[in-house]
Amino acid sequence: MTCKRVRPAESRADYTAERAGKIVRHGLCVCAEPAPPPSRRAARRDREATLG
Ligand SMILES: [Zn+2]
Repeated sequence: MTCKRVRPAESRADYTAERAGKIVRHGLCVCAEPAPPPSRRAARRDREATLG
């Protein structure tokens, strides 16, 4: 993988000012993030939006 973005901190201790700076510079990497399961709430909101 050639992604040079910064992976999100896994814990508060991991979230340092240095990491935050790198994320700002290189962007936050979400390659390893598993796709979130479809949210029922979101679907419901969609339907409500359609109904107007
Ligand atoms: Zn990445």
